[in-house]
Amino acid sequence: MGNTVAIFLFSSRNNVLLYLTDWSYSTYLLLHRWLGYCAVGHTVIHSAMLWRYYVIQGTYSAELLRLYWQWGIVGTVAVCALIPLSLLVVRQKLYEFFIASHVVLSLLFLLGYYYHIWYVYTYNWGYEIWMFVAAGLWACERLLRVARIAFNGSSTAVVSVIADTDNEYIRINIQGKRFQDGVAYLCFPTLSWRFWETHPFSVSGVITEAQPNHATLPSSRSNLNSDVARELTAEKDGAQWTTTAITNKCDSSYEGVTTTFFARARGGITRTLVERASRSENRHIRVRVMVEGPYGHSGQIQSQVTQCSSILCIAGGVGITACLPLLIQAGAKNAKLAWSSRHPGLVAELRPTLNALPSNVKVEILVGQRFDLASMLSEELGGMQTADKGPLAIMVSGPPGMADGVRSACTKIARGNKKVRPYVMIDEAFSW
Ligand SMILES: Cc1cc2nc3c(=O)[nH]c(=O)nc-3n(C[C@H](O)[C@H](O)[C@H](O)COP(=O)(O)OP(=O)(O)OC[C@H]3O[C@@H](n4cnc5c(N)ncnc54)[C@H](O)[C@@H]3O)c2cc1C
Repeated sequence: MGNTVAIFLFSSRNNVLLYLTDWSYSTYLLLHRWLGYCAVGHTVIHSAMLWRYYVIQGTYSAELLRLYWQWGIVGTVAVCALIPLSLLVVRQKLYEFFIASHVVLSLLFLLGYYYHIWYVYTYNWGYEIWMFVAAGLWACERLLRVARIAFNGSSTAVVSVIADTDNEYIRINIQGKRFQDGVAYLCFPTLSWRFWETHPFSVSGVITEAQPNHATLPSSRSNLNSDVARELTAEKDGAQWTTTAITNKCDSSYEGVTTTFFARARGGITRTLVERASRSENRHIRVRVMVEGPYGHSGQIQSQVTQCSSILCIAGGVGITACLPLLIQAGAKNAKLAWSSRHPGLVAELRPTLNALPSNVKVEILVGQRFDLASMLSEELGGMQTADKGPLAIMVSGPPGMADGVRSACTKIARGNKKVRPYVMIDEAFSW
């Protein structure tokens, strides 16, 4: 039960430890899972040993009729069922079922535990306190989530399909909100009967719109790699670029502040958003949205990055959204973005924002290709490229395989060459 209390605390988005430590939410969720395996193991050993004890005592059939034993069975079965129903494949294929079963089984476990104690000890030994603490943490978490949504109120989201991405990417502009970074849970109550569904998306920071005729293209962008440079030149001959604060491309009548998210269509709510927007006349829709957050789920990134002399962001597809706030706030640090995307449309959509990045941010983009992570990292870590021998902050945000690739490449390089630069790795995974 000690572990159970930690399990409930570590699963909470409002876990106070997130503010006291620089661990990310995904680290706490990892520990949540492993503490869960421990708690299930303890429960099974407890049940098996007492079952064996009463069999040896010859009183098992009598115990079986007692309410405490029956509730004990409820608790044990519920907690054991949590494991198979939380496997990665279930979370990936049936996320909403995973969440619903997780809540119901956790509730059954707590109730089973409570009555298992009540019918033997009532409140004599304080065993029930564990249950009250765990349930209290859970209730607080839920209340805080509702409070955050209520605090943000209801807004309008303009959802537009990004051109040239085979209907795979959408842009979500939430009017009246100005979040700088973090992860926000978006709830679209009018979109489906599952009005309560919330989904995490990374705040993309300040997104710059491309609007012809004003200031010329910032000259410092000459270090963009060939693809984009080539295109930009073509464009530059035709039109001039501007950097403006967030304006709502799809709703020119809207003058207020906007927070922008970019989302890749998957199988559930994101697919529904794409289908609705792509069916509409001008490929965008306005939908009601409730926002919970933003949360700083990545741990105290700034304190980790502050100690580094330069930043390397490696992004795949929509993973760039998690890197943009860090690059926008890179300040005087040498920074580099290596972004690979399958769709040129997503690059075109974010090009003005990349143009508006501080001039000390070097941008490399590959469309339809992948970076050679190992050689890029050995150059950056080996310091052969720069005189900068200070710690390097490496942020990776993209498919899990890309993050694993960066992690194993870094450890291999660091083990192979003692002279490499120290580094901090920040894994902005879009999955838990
Ligand atoms: C910290 C974080 C930041 C993210 N930022 C972005 C972003 O900026 N842009 C973007 O396109 N995607 C982002 N994602 C992923 C995004 O949350 C999922 O793609 C989205 O929830 C899919 O919803 P769906 O109903 O369409 O998916 P489904 O087809 O039901 O599921 C597709 C995948 O998304 C996962 N998923 C579904 N619902 C959730 C949920 N509520 N919480 C966590 N994972 C879920 C499933 O495990 C599955 O792997 C982020 C995820 C996390 C954890």
